[in-house]
Formats: sequence, structure tokens, C-alpha cells
Amino acid sequence: MKTIPHTQIAEPAVTCSTCAACCCQLEVMLITDTGVPDRFIDTDEWGGEVMLRLDDGWCAALDRDSMMCTIYERRPLICREFEMGAPECIEERRGIATAYR
Ligand code: SF4
Ligand code: SF4
Repeated sequence: MKTIPHTQIAEPAVTCSTCAACCCQLEVMLITDTGVPDRFIDTDEWGGEVMLRLDDGWCAALDRDSMMCTIYERRPLICREFEMGAPECIEERRGIATAYR
């Protein structure tokens, strides 16, 4: 019988569509005006604008049924630049592995 070397066992593909929006628990500073509605904006302890996060840590603009961004067209610059599959993304997914959908 031919055995498969451990290194060839496929990792699940990294894609937002099967991810529990892990990165949407990070603090997101608003450094440019992309049109985020006021109800989703909070102020941090230094007076800077950040995305409002709910008690469980997730961004208030996240749809909890679909785990999709409800303001995708107006999402902050930082969210636009957070790259799927980048080291930061992998790190966030690792930290919340039990929440994969
Ligand atoms: S960018 Fe990465 S961590 Fe964020 S939702 Fe997509 S796969 Fe998940
Ligand atoms: S604005 Fe959208 S993409 Fe950015 S953290 Fe919130 S839900 Fe995620």
C-alpha cells in the first residue's frame, strides 16, 4: 500500500467563504472616510475612530447569519487591505479554529 507523506495531506483551502470571519474580530481603525455608517463607529481610548465591536468581539457590521460584511462597499481601508491567505489571515484562522463554518 502506498502511504501519503504527511506533508502532502492537503490543508483546507483558505477562503473567506468557509471562514468564520475571524479577521472581523480585530480592532479596525478608521484612517480614511469610506462612508461607514455612524452606528458602526466607536471611539477608542485615544479618541480615534474604530469599528464598533459587540460584547463577543465581532464587528457590529458583520451579519451573523451569513458571516458576511453588511457594509462591504463602504468597508474601512484596513478591511480592504486585509488579504485572504496572507500570514495575518492564517494566524487569525488558527486562533479561532473551532469556529470554522
Ligand atoms: S481574510 Fe482570512 S480570516 Fe478574514 S474572513 Fe477571509 S479567510 Fe477568514
Ligand atoms: S467592516 Fe466588514 S470587513 Fe470590516 S471588520 Fe467589520 S464586518 Fe469585517
